[in-house]
Amino acid sequence: MIEKRQFYINGAWVDPVAARDFPVIDPSTEEAVAVISLGDQADTDAAVAAANAAFPAWSATDPAERIALVEKILQIYLARAEEMAQATSLEMGAPITMSREDQVPSGSYHIKNFLRAAKDFKYIRPLGPHAPHDRIIMDPIGTVAMITPWNWPMNQVTLKVIPALLTGCTMVLKPSEIAPLSSILFSEILDEAGVPKGVYNMVNGDGPGVGSQLSCHPGVDMVSFTGSTRAGIAISKAAAETIKRVCLELGGKGANLVFADADEDAVARGVVHMMENTGQSCNAPSRMLVERSVYDAVVEKARVAAEAIGVAPASLEGDHIGPLVSEAQWHKVQDLIQKGIDEGARLVAGGTGRPEGLNRGFFARPTVFADVTPDMTIAREEIFGPVLSIIPFETEEDGVRIANDTVYGLTNYAQTQDKARLRRMARELRAGMIHLNGKGRSAGAPFGGIKQSGNGREAGVWGLEDFLEVKAVGGYPDPWEDA
Ligand code: NAD
Repeated sequence: MIEKRQFYINGAWVDPVAARDFPVIDPSTEEAVAVISLGDQADTDAAVAAANAAFPAWSATDPAERIALVEKILQIYLARAEEMAQATSLEMGAPITMSREDQVPSGSYHIKNFLRAAKDFKYIRPLGPHAPHDRIIMDPIGTVAMITPWNWPMNQVTLKVIPALLTGCTMVLKPSEIAPLSSILFSEILDEAGVPKGVYNMVNGDGPGVGSQLSCHPGVDMVSFTGSTRAGIAISKAAAETIKRVCLELGGKGANLVFADADEDAVARGVVHMMENTGQSCNAPSRMLVERSVYDAVVEKARVAAEAIGVAPASLEGDHIGPLVSEAQWHKVQDLIQKGIDEGARLVAGGTGRPEGLNRGFFARPTVFADVTPDMTIAREEIFGPVLSIIPFETEEDGVRIANDTVYGLTNYAQTQDKARLRRMARELRAGMIHLNGKGRSAGAPFGGIKQSGNGREAGVWGLEDFLEVKAVGGYPDPWEDA
């Protein structure tokens, strides 16, 4: 049993003020593999106080010094990549190959991209040629509370911790209590890199405890949150009393419009993308909207693609998908699959229960529903499991209307060879991100949503600006005026 009860506060590993053990469950075996502590108000207060105390000195450092520190963090992160892959796979069930090839590299990818953005970043900018003595100064916001989910642990943690470090903020990270091992290792990496004491702190805890204590804490200037829309609402309310900035990266219900002229691989690509990480990605293309003339053929292709996806324990190498993260998530996904059946959708692959041969572990079957209507629960709710809903549409206008008919607005997708239509899709689909013909966003592009998918923009230059306040200065003397 791995024992990781301590928190990282003010540059040291410290015991929780009061003991409150919490098991970390391996979702492939349902067995407890580690024990952590859930923090309480006194732990939260100590971490916030350390971050507050460290802020004046850290925010005054030269940006080049902060860049050098993050370069060191990157080196150590890369050196400990295998440990990180094992921790991630164990805590949240990503198959070890996927953990090595996608989960852990997503962290180093963000660190590298932030370094590039930070090297060109201007903290003091002219307002414009009409105002020679005006300056816009970008100031670090202060102490940031960071609350992260379990589904892409290092992706989310690096998207917050690294830009906060680079911009001169101090911070308290509360990772998901379900997947805390990767963040504990990440804290060891930061310690090894020599982050000055108090700049970075980590307290484990749950939502009602440390999560809400941080959200309403008077010593916290900003909350950066990634997780469910439900928790995002609670955090926004808790933060309102002290008027904190609240950056939210929330859920999604991505539409993937497949037109009659879509390329050969579009359907299989959409299914594989949906099932990746066992469907536990906020940007999953969970609604496949299909032009009527190719509907039957697409449903058949989707069935074949879903049935080709293997499901197996996370510790096995290979390109299968792993279990869902937890028992609660398993039951939620089962209930939603049953709801799909009860509300009259046509099951074409998968269904309820575990895949054959897997009697233990939170495994679910890659599932495809056809004849889904836009008002069904499986078309409206984020399932966060390997479940695809296929919905037919008649015209392009109809397709766009169905795609936009959701409270979410994170990522939408379109598959067509018609260039004018691709441009219309980019404009008309309402979401923070649009992927056309399987092309993802490039390094430095912002990640974030609209509507109930949130308001933050993480990664690249936008990801740095999220942690900065804009200060307008008039009467700024130029350096040559000193003489
Ligand atoms: P969750 O909201 O249950 O938990 C996320 C984090 O918030 C955890 O650390 C949890 O302890 C904490 N938390 C829960 N309730 C809280 C409260 N009332 N106050 C403060 N903190 C609280 O989400 P999850 O199940 O860990 O993750 C899945 C969700 O995250 C999905 O909805 C998914 O779409 C979303 N997500 C969004 C993005 C994005 O960038 N938009 C990325 C990944 C995941």
